Amino acid sequence: MERLVYVDNSATTRLDDRVLKEMMPFLEEGYGNASSSYSIGIRSREAVENARKKVAKAINACECEIYFTSGGSEADNMIIKGIARANQEKGKHIITSSIEHLAVLNSCYSLAREGFEITYLPVDENGMISLKELENSIRKDTILISIMFANNEIGTIEPIKEIGKVAKAHNIYFHTDAVQAIGNVDVDVAELNIDALSISAHKFHGPKGVGAAYIKDGVKFFNLIDGGHQECCRRAGTENVAGIVGMGKAIEISTENIEEKSNKVKMIRDYCYRKLLELDNKIKLNGNFENRLPGNLNICFEGIDNKNLLLLLDMNGICVSTGSACNSSVSIPSHVLTAIGCDSKRANSSIRLSFGDTNSFEEVEYIIEVIKNNLEMMKEGK
Ligand SMILES: *Cc1c(COP(=O)(O)O)cnc(C)c1O
Repeated sequence: MERLVYVDNSATTRLDDRVLKEMMPFLEEGYGNASSSYSIGIRSREAVENARKKVAKAINACECEIYFTSGGSEADNMIIKGIARANQEKGKHIITSSIEHLAVLNSCYSLAREGFEITYLPVDENGMISLKELENSIRKDTILISIMFANNEIGTIEPIKEIGKVAKAHNIYFHTDAVQAIGNVDVDVAELNIDALSISAHKFHGPKGVGAAYIKDGVKFFNLIDGGHQECCRRAGTENVAGIVGMGKAIEISTENIEEKSNKVKMIRDYCYRKLLELDNKIKLNGNFENRLPGNLNICFEGIDNKNLLLLLDMNGICVSTGSACNSSVSIPSHVLTAIGCDSKRANSSIRLSFGDTNSFEEVEYIIEVIKNNLEMMKEGK
């Protein structure tokens, strides 16, 4: 039972060996503060700026539009609160969706306490927002639209290009949480009319605790973290040099050959789905296969408690999740599954497998074997 089969790549990913190798010098002898004026400091500065170039290039932005943060959650907070507070003369209305990550939803709840008004767009059974509803909810005082690029629980990819067009036509800022999208689908902020975007390194084989906010040149925003002059005075704090270097390398690796990689991941996922259907034709896919992240499989097993299934899989070295990692300590049904119309019974019988380019067909065979050997027992007894 020493085996580890990791199919929870939406929660986090394994650090790529090549990424670790790039980071190491900055954790060892290259520990200079990137703001210091002697050589080891200057080398840290150069490494940070080099990583900034890579992040900018990966999303087709300008280097001056990239601000390093402590991760995706901070980027979401920085962008949403920063833009809202800086533009409240113009209006205090924000549009988001009901299936956003908690970093977005809770930022909106905070802003609501400050007097902002938030519209939470519903989604259909596949997790898609309606462009018509988006248009209808726009008001004179709408200053920001924040809709995620791809959902972390059910993998739905939102109509980002169309949302960008709507936002532009109404002169409203458009933010997208692209944490799940980077490395899985092409993201081009210029082509998609995106004004602000959140990135997290550990979702694409980079280190944890580092991310970035892309904020288009000219967008008015207030700082979230005040202090020193780092990041063009827009985000204070001594740079996490090794982390930033790791993110630069990871984004470079994960955004090359996206199509080839996605196709491979998709084939493994679809194979797993077919095999699960053969085992139990009553399983249900949450969401559908169109506009879905290549690695995401969110499945309902009728009559099974997902916490028991998770435990069983874990005992066999298989890592999956119920809902999102951030929600897993609470047993209220996922807000995302609820939003697509699943009742609590279905939500609490669902698990998420998120495949990545580190997974293999052979691992799928193993997962199927484990489930096959235990399915009936799980349905009967508990
Ligand atoms: C993981 C995740 C985040 C949070 O990123 P952290 O770097 O873990 O703070 C935000 N949004 C989405 C969609 C995510 O999947």
